[in-house]
Amino acid sequence: MYKIGIDVGGMSIKAGLVDDGEIIKKSIKETNKSGGADNMIDDITQLVNNLLDESGLSIEEISSIGIGFPGVVTSGGRVSCVNLGLDNALIVSQLEKNFKGTHVKVGNDANVAALAEYAYGSMNGYNSGVMITLGTGVGGGIVIDGKLIIGENGVGAEIGHTMVATNYYDCNCGNNGCFETFCSATAIIKYAQKLLEKNRKSIIRDMCENNINNITAKMVFDAYKENDEVALEIVNRFKKYLAIGIANIVNFIDPSVISIGGGVSNASDILLDGLSEAVKQHLPFKKTEIGDIVIAKFKNDAGIIGASAL
Ligand SMILES: [Zn+2]
Repeated sequence: MYKIGIDVGGMSIKAGLVDDGEIIKKSIKETNKSGGADNMIDDITQLVNNLLDESGLSIEEISSIGIGFPGVVTSGGRVSCVNLGLDNALIVSQLEKNFKGTHVKVGNDANVAALAEYAYGSMNGYNSGVMITLGTGVGGGIVIDGKLIIGENGVGAEIGHTMVATNYYDCNCGNNGCFETFCSATAIIKYAQKLLEKNRKSIIRDMCENNINNITAKMVFDAYKENDEVALEIVNRFKKYLAIGIANIVNFIDPSVISIGGGVSNASDILLDGLSEAVKQHLPFKKTEIGDIVIAKFKNDAGIIGASAL
């Protein structure tokens, strides 16, 4: 049977008809950020109907509809996304009324991405896996024996907000020292800006046309490949804290695999080079083996595919 996966983002809602982890058809709509729960339910209903119309399928041929949201989703299915005007919204029951006979499941987007990797991607075949998504922030997802671990209140697996050290700027969450303030694309850009403001010589300056607001994480990794001194400093700092962040995961869970995704994972060669060894340096049992560290398979489609696997 087919499944439908829906990826709710700040800009768009993307729905996909999925068959065994492969997207067969997509339907996309702009996100109405001020519409609240009722509007969200209407938009999702419309997208599902579009997929059914375009594929000539009936709802009876869809075994489940899964939806990933960029916010907190409790085990009872309540959804809170501050940016989308959803506050403890009950989405599931209304959608199950709209699509009788079909199960509707909801999850957090980072958790859903982990599920995509576990079910069909880089973590497939392992018993337990932890995914860390290095993007604008750092997201996390924990899957053990096929089950997502989200915690009692739906706020577990927030790996990006585990504390790794004192940092020179605070996290958006209000705390200081969060993993994502060291290991996100934002963290890389901010540290590059900080070093270039000190008049340090670097080819990044040419790359960003002398405007530090134009700096991207890719520029820093490209400059690293050219042995640029500033880029070396930024990337080495990033890698140091990546190893510490992963060591924390190993200390807590010791998963069979850790998968790294998100935009920063495009620099996979640089990220993985020496990473396992560096992680072990931060563990109490340095000679013990640790799980594999791999790069995520899915890029933009992780949200749809993972939601379909909920
Ligand atoms: Zn934080």
